Amino acid sequence: MKYVDEYRDGARAAEIAEAIAREVRPDRSYAFMEFCGGHTHAISRYGIEDLLPANVRMIHGPGCPVCVLPVGRIDDAIRLARRPEVTLVTYGDLMRVPSSKGGSLLKAKAAGADIRMVYSSLDAVKIAEKEPDREVVFFAIGFETTTPPTAVALKIAMEKGLENFSIFCNHVLTPVAMRTILDTPAAPGEPPIAIEGFVGPAHVSTIIGMEPYREFAEQYRKPVVIAGFEPLDVMQAILMLIRQVNEQRAEVENQYIRAVTRAGNVTAQTLCEDVFELRDEFEWRGLGVVPKSALKLRDAFAFYDAEKRFAVETVAAADNPACECGPILRGQKKPADCRLFGTACTPETPMGACMVSSEGACAAHWTYGRFREHQKGAEKAPLRRAS
Ligand code: SF4
Ligand code: SF4
Repeated sequence: MKYVDEYRDGARAAEIAEAIAREVRPDRSYAFMEFCGGHTHAISRYGIEDLLPANVRMIHGPGCPVCVLPVGRIDDAIRLARRPEVTLVTYGDLMRVPSSKGGSLLKAKAAGADIRMVYSSLDAVKIAEKEPDREVVFFAIGFETTTPPTAVALKIAMEKGLENFSIFCNHVLTPVAMRTILDTPAAPGEPPIAIEGFVGPAHVSTIIGMEPYREFAEQYRKPVVIAGFEPLDVMQAILMLIRQVNEQRAEVENQYIRAVTRAGNVTAQTLCEDVFELRDEFEWRGLGVVPKSALKLRDAFAFYDAEKRFAVETVAAADNPACECGPILRGQKKPADCRLFGTACTPETPMGACMVSSEGACAAHWTYGRFREHQKGAEKAPLRRAS
């Protein structure tokens, strides 16, 4: 496939792996966090860790929007969906995320709640237009990538004069999460998080550009290399990070120049600025309550704010105590450290959010993990020769 195979070329991957092995210093170790779930998925899918020297470690980050949504917000969505007048519209991945009492949106739907899956925010607007007697609530989640489409949906609903459309807004911000990880000391009994650099997210960076990462390089002395999602992108970013560490540099570099610019998508940024403002605080699964880390609709759009329209009051709820999603999202543990991993918890029977979304660390590890290689359908994707 033109422009894809080039980034999955096995011979080129071997060359980069050789360069990494040559440049890594044997007397030290390297630990890099891939913030984004898309990178976690690529690393597992293509077996990239197998191509790295033993002293280069990749740490999963909290960059899967499904994983970081706290249980209390899932409970809120279920309560909203149970209202007889409401049609709750959402992305498919959220359907199976466990709620606090062993429920999920899927179970609520089976019990009669009007919950519908869509592929885009505009589908939610279409449902509202077609069914004026229903209160259509769009359950909006995601990082800076999915925030502009939510803003577009709002603007279109306004243009159409739809009064039965609202947004349950759960959009969160990437740089604040990265800062929180660096600022938060390990809890008692948990291993410290030693991160020497970040593989910066791909889609998010197409929107926000490079500038928001500068504080990590300048204040925290942590290099950031923004990378695409193909295996060669990720390997090249790892090599660039190793070079920065070896040269005691801390800079924001852009491996993904085919999609990310320094300024990002200014039109999308302006639109989001118009529609959203910072929340004082927001709870993240794994990171706790983080100030100024999420967005809400500005007062000018209060009419479309489902939290105001339906007086949503989030009640904090705890994760399943056996689930290790929290430390995994903080980069302190790996999926296999969880005693439910692969036993009680599998993608078919998820006990925690990290096993639900395909970008979740546990799901990626389960699907492509070595221990499953003998099982049909779970083989890692091969790195190919470019045609
Ligand atoms: S939308 Fe893209 S950049 Fe954002 S978390 Fe998902 S995969 Fe990563
Ligand atoms: S294996 Fe399941 S229960 Fe354990 S951390 Fe992952 S999602 Fe949570």
